[in-house]
Amino acid sequence: MTAATRLADIRHRIARAERTAGRPEGSTTLVAVSKTFPVEEIRPVIEAGQRVFGENRVQEAAAKWPLLRAETDGIELHLIGPLQSNKAAEAVALFDVIHTVDRDKIAAAIAAEGVRQGRRPRLFVQVNTGLEPQKAGIDPREAVAFVERCRSVHGLAIEGLMCIPPAEDAPAPHFALLAKLARAASVDGLSMGMSSDFEIAVGQGATHVRVGSALFGHRG
Ligand SMILES: *Cc1c(COP(=O)(O)O)cnc(C)c1O
Repeated sequence: MTAATRLADIRHRIARAERTAGRPEGSTTLVAVSKTFPVEEIRPVIEAGQRVFGENRVQEAAAKWPLLRAETDGIELHLIGPLQSNKAAEAVALFDVIHTVDRDKIAAAIAAEGVRQGRRPRLFVQVNTGLEPQKAGIDPREAVAFVERCRSVHGLAIEGLMCIPPAEDAPAPHFALLAKLARAASVDGLSMGMSSDFEIAVGQGATHVRVGSALFGHRG
């Protein structure tokens, strides 16, 4: 299968899940997760019409995307991996959307860089819905208060919430929890669903699904 065929298939499956859920077609943004793949393998996906991409490492994105952006207008780049505050300057310069705001130190660093650079990336707060010790994201019990602090203390507009359910769990309860927290925090965005479960996520209101291997193939 070519990249164009795989992209068309994923778009078709998203549209079908939107219809099944009674949602407007096109209400889910596909974030094509290109981490680990070289520019030569990303280019055909851009040529097939995809413009929204996700990367999980700042350094890797900085090495790949300035070139690809110079070639094509309208690229939107999303950071979906953990962010350290010493990389905040580079992340604010490079990314249009950051999905992984999860603590005050990062929120403060993004806010300061936003002022310094005159750039305001769109922001999601990552929630550790499975309370996994090794995983990034704020404790779900603290998520609503943290979104409020992002606004009131850090002056940041938060667009939505993001989660990565534990690999061994059924994803649906995690997606439902994220949707509930988003309502409580008065944010509309829901970044949830990956290759194995994006249709379930669309059914539960995902505004952004992050799909890597189903589109690019297995990561080496
Ligand atoms: C890698 C990654 C994805 C994509 O995962 P696939 O299973 O390959 O679709 C989505 N979200 C995050 C945060 C990731 O790191």
